[in-house]
Amino acid sequence: MQLYNTLSAKERAALIEEAGQERLTISFYKYAQIGNPSIFRNHLFIRWNELDVLGRIYVAHEGINAQLSVPAENFEAFKEHLDSITFLENVRLNIAIEQDNMSFLKLKVKVREKIVADGLEDNAFDVTNKGIHVDAEKFNELIEDPNTVLVDMRNHYESEIGRFKNAITPDVDTFRDSLDIIEKDLAEHKEDKKLVMYCTGGIRCEKASAYYKHKGFKNVYQLEGGIIEYTRQVTNKKLENKFLGKNFVFDHRRGERITEDVIANCHQCGSPCDTHVNCANEACHLLFIQCETCAEAMDNCCSVDCKDIHALPFEEQKKLRKGKTVSNKIFKKGRSEVLKFKK
Ligand SMILES: [Zn+2]
Ligand SMILES: [Zn+2]
Repeated sequence: MQLYNTLSAKERAALIEEAGQERLTISFYKYAQIGNPSIFRNHLFIRWNELDVLGRIYVAHEGINAQLSVPAENFEAFKEHLDSITFLENVRLNIAIEQDNMSFLKLKVKVREKIVADGLEDNAFDVTNKGIHVDAEKFNELIEDPNTVLVDMRNHYESEIGRFKNAITPDVDTFRDSLDIIEKDLAEHKEDKKLVMYCTGGIRCEKASAYYKHKGFKNVYQLEGGIIEYTRQVTNKKLENKFLGKNFVFDHRRGERITEDVIANCHQCGSPCDTHVNCANEACHLLFIQCETCAEAMDNCCSVDCKDIHALPFEEQKKLRKGKTVSNKIFKKGRSEVLKFKK
């Protein structure tokens, strides 16, 4: 019984290339009571591995949060398997707007404490007392209301390249920080204003809306299915699309274009650009926005220092890295003094 990946990302990429078959990038989540997440995890891995599913999936006692890619020809079988699991029957699948066969190169199903690292004490409030879920049409209506405060529940590097017009975008590194900042800013308006929130696929709003209600906000709304589902609905129902720019995603694609607006700038020269990259110096790996001209001039690096290191022979780079952890992978997303044009 195979319970873990046996192929490297490189080998997998070659296989996908060779197969030449279309893959679908999908995400979904569900809060549910899972008695034994480890057994559930193994069950998913075995079946999904057979179906050549790749992705990053978190399983916890509180539910499942999945981002994955499925070969198009196996989609029906995959869907059937989901429907065979009671609490996942007819779960809403967010299908990516821009497809990329290489969005995921491994199948990682991990057992975690929570399905979103939101930093919240779930026992301190009623997580089931959520905000009102609204669809794209109602959302469009709500955000034009002068009594509405629209809040982007994502991180700064996500809202930087795309957001709804007039949204408050807290300049924070973690979800937990943003909750308190917003509460403080809106302390006077807990009863008279409508608090409307959104995130990528809806999952972050599930707990945030309950948290705000617990904090005394009377009118709390959340965009059902997030930006991904919103985009699908405005396209299908021919509604006005009030989103600007790109939707940041946590896979190889990094972002999918929703509208042609470019609302961000290259962090190195300031010219309009909304392409996220990771610094090519493996020891740095900083996530930042870089235009093509700068990418060429800087050898895909974030700074002159990184460029110098990146130019060294691989063995020497490895020696320099020895014993050091790459903290940028975790903490410094999109933040560094070397980035002159980061707002
Ligand atoms: Zn530039
Ligand atoms: Zn760097």
